[in-house]
Amino acid sequence: RDGGREVADLRTAFNTMLEHIDDSLAVRAEAELRLRRFVADASHELRTPLMSVRGYADLFQYAAANEPAERERHLARLRAEAARMGFLLDDLLLLARLDAAEVEAPLRTADTDLVDLVQQAADAFRAGHPGHPLTVASDPGRLVLRLDPQRVRQVLDNLLTNAAVHTPAGTPVSVTVSTTPGAALLRITDAGPGIPPDDTERVFDRFYRVDKARSRDRGGTGLGLAVARSLTRAHGGDITLTSTPATTTFTIHLPL
Ligand code: ADP
Repeated sequence: RDGGREVADLRTAFNTMLEHIDDSLAVRAEAELRLRRFVADASHELRTPLMSVRGYADLFQYAAANEPAERERHLARLRAEAARMGFLLDDLLLLARLDAAEVEAPLRTADTDLVDLVQQAADAFRAGHPGHPLTVASDPGRLVLRLDPQRVRQVLDNLLTNAAVHTPAGTPVSVTVSTTPGAALLRITDAGPGIPPDDTERVFDRFYRVDKARSRDRGGTGLGLAVARSLTRAHGGDITLTSTPATTTFTIHLPL
């Protein structure tokens, strides 16, 4: 009788093991699929500006030599497309480094006043986007955290630029700094068109855009939010998003 129970126990253990193997194979297959899609998307995204570079080079070559203004225009467009490829590659490389973060932490942390960092980002935003009124409000006067100032500034710049680029001219933007018992919160809010509920998680996916053609025309890489989320997570924090048809709020959570 005992032998029968042992066999039954063994069978149960064996089945559990098989289920675990199935699960890990499924996880792996999914990860592989994601990676393949990422490589395909990245190639496609790089191909678009590359084709433009070729096109403008041809136009430049065939433009009549006595049309210097026309040639200059082609050259300027060619430079802009090449710059776009550069931005895209910067983002791709940073994401690859963050993906491998278990191997090498890509952050250079230092004690940093978050309120001061926000003020610097706000000043740069006002200079670059004079059409969008920006207000900053902070509960604490100073809030020193151990973080990578350049990377957190990059996250802020990204969210602020999005608030200007994806909203009509004149749309106000606000940043607030506050704390909870465990975290510092930075909220970036714009009174723009909002992000549809179905898209609020997907906008963090690599290359996902709500309005594909328009967003690409505005010069974005489609990687900004993916990079921002990865960078925040590398700090042990996260980014969340709430949106209505009249407002969009991104909240950066950073552990204290
Ligand atoms: P992009 O380079 O296109 O800005 P992001 O990853 O930064 O890429 O953003 C992904 C998409 O999320 C954008 O294409 C846009 O559709 C949407 N989005 C981001 N921020 C905002 C915002 N503040 N208001 C409305 N839509 C936004």
